[in-house]
Formats: sequence, C-alpha cells, structure tokens
Amino acid sequence: MTALVQLTVVPFGSKRLVLITQLLNRKRPPYQFPVAGALPARPPPGDGTLELTRPRRAPPSPAARWARRAALPSLSLSLPGVARARRPQVAAACSRSTMAAPRWEVVVLGLASVAWCVSRAQGGGGSAQFPWDRVRLPGHVVPLHYHLLIHPNLTTLTFTGTVAIDVTVTQPTRAVVLHSKRLRVSRAGLEAGAGSTCAVREVRVLEHPSREQLALLASEPLCTGHNYTLSIQYSANLSDSFHGFYKSTYRTREGELRVLASTHFEPTSARMAFPCFDEPAFKARFSVKIRREPNHLALSNMPLVKSVNIASWLVEDHFDTSVKMSTYLVAFIVSDFKSISKVTSRGVKVSIYTVPEKINQAHYALDAAVKLLDFYEDYFSIPYPLPKQDLAAIPDFQSGAMENWGLTTYRESALLYDPEKSSASSRLWITMVIAHELAHQWFGNLVTMEWWNDLWLNEGFAKFMELLSVNITHPELRVEDYFLRRCFDAMEVDALNSSHPVSTPVEDPAQILEMFDEVSYEKGSCILNMLRDYLTADVFKAGLVQYLQKYSYQNTKNEDLWDSLTNICPTVGTDKGELQGDGFCRRNQQSSSNAHWTKETLDVKAMMDTWTLQKGFPLLTITVRGKNVHLQQEHYRKGADSLSPTENGYLWHIPLTYVTSNSHTVQRFLMRTKTDVIILPEEAEWIKFNVDMNGYYIVHYEDDGWDRLISLLRENHTMISSNDRASLINNIFQLVRIKKLSISKAFDLTLYMKRETQIMPILQGMNELVPIYKLMERRDMDDTEKQLKDYIVNLFKDLIDKQLWSDEGSVSERMLRQSLLLFACVRRYQPCVDKAEEYFSKWQKSNGTLRLPADVKTAVYAVGAQTSEGWDFLLSKYQHHSFSVDKDKIASALSLTRNKDKLQWLMDEGLRGDIIKTQDFPYIIVSIARNPSGYHLAWTFLRENWEKLIKKFELGSSSIAGIVTGVTNQYSTRPQLAQVKEFFSSLEEKSAQLRCIQQAIETIEDNIQWMDRYFDEIKMWLQKNHP
Ligand SMILES: [Zn+2]
Repeated sequence: MTALVQLTVVPFGSKRLVLITQLLNRKRPPYQFPVAGALPARPPPGDGTLELTRPRRAPPSPAARWARRAALPSLSLSLPGVARARRPQVAAACSRSTMAAPRWEVVVLGLASVAWCVSRAQGGGGSAQFPWDRVRLPGHVVPLHYHLLIHPNLTTLTFTGTVAIDVTVTQPTRAVVLHSKRLRVSRAGLEAGAGSTCAVREVRVLEHPSREQLALLASEPLCTGHNYTLSIQYSANLSDSFHGFYKSTYRTREGELRVLASTHFEPTSARMAFPCFDEPAFKARFSVKIRREPNHLALSNMPLVKSVNIASWLVEDHFDTSVKMSTYLVAFIVSDFKSISKVTSRGVKVSIYTVPEKINQAHYALDAAVKLLDFYEDYFSIPYPLPKQDLAAIPDFQSGAMENWGLTTYRESALLYDPEKSSASSRLWITMVIAHELAHQWFGNLVTMEWWNDLWLNEGFAKFMELLSVNITHPELRVEDYFLRRCFDAMEVDALNSSHPVSTPVEDPAQILEMFDEVSYEKGSCILNMLRDYLTADVFKAGLVQYLQKYSYQNTKNEDLWDSLTNICPTVGTDKGELQGDGFCRRNQQSSSNAHWTKETLDVKAMMDTWTLQKGFPLLTITVRGKNVHLQQEHYRKGADSLSPTENGYLWHIPLTYVTSNSHTVQRFLMRTKTDVIILPEEAEWIKFNVDMNGYYIVHYEDDGWDRLISLLRENHTMISSNDRASLINNIFQLVRIKKLSISKAFDLTLYMKRETQIMPILQGMNELVPIYKLMERRDMDDTEKQLKDYIVNLFKDLIDKQLWSDEGSVSERMLRQSLLLFACVRRYQPCVDKAEEYFSKWQKSNGTLRLPADVKTAVYAVGAQTSEGWDFLLSKYQHHSFSVDKDKIASALSLTRNKDKLQWLMDEGLRGDIIKTQDFPYIIVSIARNPSGYHLAWTFLRENWEKLIKKFELGSSSIAGIVTGVTNQYSTRPQLAQVKEFFSSLEEKSAQLRCIQQAIETIEDNIQWMDRYFDEIKMWLQKNHP
C-alpha cells in the first residue's frame, strides 16, 4: 500500500521539520508523521510537525536525502510500507525496550493509535486514572541528576527537548509523577539503573493538564531503594509571556528585529521548559546541552565545557554539571549578546551580557558586581561555589531581575548604566538590584526555603542584604536613606485585613505567585533589620554564617534560622556573653546599652514567631506620668471592621528603643506583654520611641505627647535624626486613619517642613499629602484641592527654588532634586514649568542632541509631553536607540498628557508590545490611572482586557496586583466601590479570589470613610493656615 502525502519541509537546526499538509490518497485528516525511526510526537489537533532524525545504522533513504537538503517548499511523495510498519511503531512510542534499530521507513500513524500512549487524564476522565490527586508532588521518587538537551528555533519560535532524569525510588510505587506544562511529549521511557534487576517492560504516560502534572506509569512496581532513569522527548512553543522559556526581541540601530530566547522559571515555570520535579526541595544536579546556530551564543548556569559542530549550521554547547540546586534556578539563554568580563579577587569570572549595541553601558554593573561578590564572600565566610557569574540584560523582562545560579537575569534598566545619561536614582537602583541578586546566590540558592510559604527567607533576606552590602560597598549612595520607605510601604498593605503572615500556607501556582509581595520582600527585610538592631550586628552576622554553613545545598524552614540565631553569644566589645547549658545567651547587668538581655533568656524564635506567624504589626501607645512611662500594645488595623477574637489576642515581642530630651543614648527594652511600665531616671521634656524607626511598629503618644514632639520639630527639628522625623510624619497620618488623632494635628506637624531639607522626611511628607489631594481630584472638589496643592508646593517652595538644574551634588541631593522638580512641574508651579519649557524647547530644536542634565529630565519631559507636538516628539525619541536609558522616563512623561486619545493609544500599544514594550505596560496603566484625565480610561481598559492581562502577566503575579491596586486606590465613592466589586465578582473563581482584589476593596472602603470624616476638617484647616 502506498500513502501519498503533501509535505512542507522547514529547516529546524540540525533537523528538518516535516509538515504534512495533506494526505492525498486517504480520506482522513492530516496525521502525525514520524519519519525514519523518529517517534511520533504527541498529537494535538491540527499540529502536523515532526522531527526527522538521521538513523544510526541504516543508509539514508531518498526521503532522508531530500530532507537533509535545504528547505523544500512543498512536494508530493510516494511512501511505501505504511501498513506493515504501523503497529510496531506505535508500541515503540510507548516502551523504550522495543524502540531500538530505527529504520528508514515512513510511517503514518492515526491520531487515535498514538493517543493511548499519552492520555489526558483530567479529573479522572480519559483512558486511565491519573495516579496522583494532589497539587504537591509525592515524595516517592526523588530526582538526582537532570541531563537536558534543548534546541530552540528562533525562526519558528518553537523548541524541542530531551530530558533524562536519574531518580531514586524511596517508597513503593508504580508511578513517577512530575511537572509539565504545555509541553507536547512525544516519547517517554523508564529504565532501571545499571546492574538493577528491576527492569520496566513498558510505561504509559498520563497527563493532568490543570495540575500541570505528568505521570509515567510502569507496568510493574518500581523497586524501593533503586535508581532509574526516566527520559522524555518533547516539543513546545517558545512562550509569548515573560516566564518559562520565552521569546524576547529587540531592534538594532538599523531597525532590524532580532529574536532571542531566555528563561524565567521562578516560581513554577521550569515545567514550561522541561518536565521536572518543580518544587524547591527537589534539589538535583543539572547537565545542560543547548543547540544553536553558529552566529548565536548560548548561556546557562555553568560554564561552557565544549562546543560540538553537529552540522555547518548547528552547534551543540555542553555546559558543566551544576551544583545541587532547585529547578526554579535553572536558566539558559540563546542570543546574539556581547559581553565584558572581570575576575574577582578569588578568581570568579564575572561577565555582563547585553545586546551588542548596549555593551558600552555595562561597565558600571560589572564593577559593582565584582565589588559585591567579593563583599558577600567575605561577609558570609563561604566562597561563591561556581566558577563564574554572568549578569544578562534581557530586552523583555517582567520583574526587576532573577537570581538564577551563575546566570542572573535583569530588566535592561536594572543593569545598564550610561555615565553620561543615566540619573542618580538609576545608579542606586542598579546597585541595589545587583546586590539583591548576588545575595540570593547564598540566600535562596545555596540555602533554599523548603516550600514557598517561607519565600520571605529568600526575599526578605535579599532585600535586607541590599541595605547591608551597598552601605559598605557603595557608601556614597547612602542606601540607608531609602530603607525606611520600604517599611512604610509594607505597613500600608500589612495594615489591611487582607494581609497575611510573613509565613503563610500556599499551594497552587497563583497562590505561590501572590507570595511575591510587599509582605515577603519589604516586611521580611524590615523585621530582619529590627532583629539585627536588637541582636547587634556581630551576633546577627555570626548567626547568619552559622545558618548558611549548616544548611548549604539544603532546604530550610523559619525555625532553622531562629535556632541558628539563638545559639550565638554576643561578643561586642570586651564584654563576652556567656553561653549557658541550654544554648541561650545570658548577659550580666553591667552590659549597659545591651541591657535588654538582662535576666532574660534570648529566645529569638519566640520573639520572631510573633512577627512571622501573625499578620500586621503593633501600635504602641505611650502615656507619660512624671517619670513613669506606661506602654500598651495592640494590633494596628485600618478599616471599620472589628478584629476577630484571634487577632484581638495578637501579642508581639517588641524590641523597643527610645531616646529622650535628656539622653541621646538609645535605651532598649523587650516588651513581651500587653502593658508595661518603664521608669525614667528623671522627667523628660519629650520622648521618642522606635529610634530611627528600626522597629516594625508605630507609636502613639497620648495626652500632650504629640504636642511636645510637634514643638520640638518646629523649634529644633535636627535634635532628632531625619529617619526619626520621617517616622513621626508617617506615624501621625497612620494614627489619623484609625481615629486616634485629628487630621488637624497631623497637618499641624507638617508645618515644620518648611525648614526641612533631608530627602527622607520630604519624600514622606509628599507621600502623605499628595494622595489626599489625589482623592479630591477624583471627586471634583476643585477649590479645596487647589488650596491643598498650593499648600504643599508652598511647603517645599524654598527648597524647589534653590535647586540647581544640573547633575551636581551627592546622590541624595540629586535624587531629592529629581523628585522635587518633577513634583513642582506636574503641579504646575510656574517657575519650574517655565524653566522646564525652556529646556524642552531647546532640546527639541536640537532634535534631541542637546545634553540635558540626567536628574532634571523627568521634569523636562513631563512638561514637554503636555503639548501634542511635544508628546509626538517624545514618542519618536522613545523609539530611538540613543535614548534607551531614558525609555522609562519618557514613557512616564507620555502617560502624563491630558489627551485621552493619546492615553488610550499608549495602553493599547503597551499591551500589543510593538512600539511600547509590554514589560512597561503595568507602570504605564498605573501612571495613567493617577492622571486626572486617565483614571476612567485605565479602569475601562483593565475591565476590557482582563483575560489578556492575566495571560501575559500571570494570575497572582505582582504585576497584576500592581495594576489592580494602582488603578483603583484613589477611588473614594460608593458608586466606584460598587463598580469595582461588581466587576471582580463577575470573574471566574481564581481571579475573583486574588488577594489584590481584597486589598483594592478595603482601600476604597477606607478612602470613603476617610473623606467622610476629614474633608471638612481639612478645608477648615487650610482656610485657617493657608488662606
Ligand atoms: Zn529576590
């Protein structure tokens, strides 16, 4: 019998893909089509592609010869031997043992006959019961070593892969269950390890797509204690999102569009690139091979060992075997990147990779990375375990960066720095991001959380280490000035009922993604900073080193860290602590400033459990009676709902600190009860708790406590630190929210800011005041809104007027300049607008060649974007290569226009991704939502494109959370609340249950109450104080 088929052959690396377009002499739909010993791929409907491989022994047939030639457009062939070869080939697809000796025969298989090999078993349906019914994998089979071969095709945007995983069986089972998502499995086998008598005759492959699982079901039970190798061949499309093995593109200076492929696996996307045991505790070694075209470059976690020429147009790169690590840390990139390198003092090769035209922006990152890697090796007393560290800037990247071991990946703006054009804030940001990812090489990569519920062990630490390391390696950046802001941001969401404990149970991928939030990152880092302040830097460091050494290449839980930190004695100064038999430290009374250890055993776990297992944070209320200071703690919560009985019982172990008008020595006291009393040596004029706001709590001063502090600020504000001032500004507005103070009192405090010059209190002042008029902007309360804007501008006017329009000064001064000028120009402060207009028109006349000072660009662009012509000019520059470091600034200026058509265009294009990068879309839509002309548009856009958005950015991601809360957080009316509730409750369950939706609703409810309660009072205060 002869089968006549219509074929299209396309080149596919070393191979040719045979596309069967039509079966000419049979009345059947197109089929899967294995040629010459290649095995059938899983048959999705309508997909007729197949790999054509060369046989090992048999001489090439005519079919193979034509296939190996250059691409053939389309042809008809006469293919003999179909009926005869049909059955055995089907069997070969299912069982490895019958699969040897490929022959050069062409076999046409029907869809149905393949389908019994790879069945979909959703919810128990399909031809066989899926052997596992939970989201988490069973522990019966444990991976040891992955041998992975990946071959992406950057033309067809597909890839093929083969993975062989050495596993060990720890419990009796017939099934190997692992993860796989959107992979078309064409073949799977299970083979007993060398010398084993436990052979497997046949395996069946079952799939559970909704749980993203794959099962290999053996015909007989696997032997416990024995090793096996499971091998899977598969193919897939390169992902069109930002996770898994995904496509990224960029345009060269000449306008040519180039494609590259890169990975982002954390938390659960490794399964989109290869079948694997995709949970952090299944650590294994990885040997990666990548096939690429000769003009490309492949990178992976480990260094290249050798490159093999498979054909003149195909190279296979072999990378060294990795250390033991989790799947989410695996990475590979195929691109045309260029690199520069340096070697650290201990011989680690550090390289920065970027698209070729931006290689001259890589030097700052290279120096920073070398410095930071040296610092961490010293600080942790553990050498970086890999021979190299590559940092790659990926043109399309959803988050800031990713810590893949040995191959960290970054958004371009988080790595590339142009000394001529980049602003001071971008220097700070790049340094912090690199510090973060390199800290992860120890915290996260070497020692990994056991499960995603303790994600904060990775992220809280990496965030905290940014502060610690950059402070030492780059003191000129004054990173400590920005740390506080983080704790304020965390408190903002942590004060809501929808918040969660730092350590929270999670199971499915969307819940896991939701853990990547302010609570894990920011709160995590703030409570670590508090702990360090309490334990002292030396004790804290000793505990960390002990923890990292003890758990290297392993997984940990919260308590492992606390245990490591508990068994450390402080060795500050000459005063040695004494390690007692129970492993706790005790110190004696004379140890002055560290007297908080006095009489108490130092139980870090008991203390830190109150911060990681309870959501929210405490409000400390201070009442001074002569020398007696009465303390009371309670749970701080926004909103009207009463606390649940459990939350009412929340109690924290608060490491209190305070200074008074009589003494600037920081006093310490660990508060472990609801109420307590401190007795001062003498009565004080004022007392300030939570010194420098190193603690994660807010403070209320009863009676005239606040009045005394407000007078202090008015009369001599530099008596307390700038962080203390910023914390007072933050705390007083938080107290207004829960009705502990009047809004007038908070506004009274802000009056002192006329004389404030430091960045932290100024930014915090803006941060409290600006959202208030933003609420009014949404509600047409024009007069009061204008008066409030005037009041704020007037507060900072002297400082704004003093700003030089240049890049002079320290990093803090430059960053303050950038914020102040942008603030002033957006609020139409005329002297600022005039100056910015002048700059913009000169710049425009020079066709963008005039060099603008980097830190004033945001203000100049923001003003320029207000005219239609200026906006168009900015857009043309956005697309121009020489403005690559300014892209973010230009995009944010574009979103400030009042022209609704232009705003709509920006969002449409942002989601499409041709002109405006989709990675910038979340920022753009939030920025448009803040624009008085754009907030309706942003909300409508969100509703109409919800499905597209969650497909692109993933359900549960921080991008989606940022969009949802950013678009709605300035709503303050009941109709707006009703609209938001109605839309989100109409979504399918998984969307409707997102935490960000609860946050959005709670925030709007809080805003409504806030406006009801305080609007009139603000109006009166302004009339009285700023007529
Ligand atoms: Zn991180």
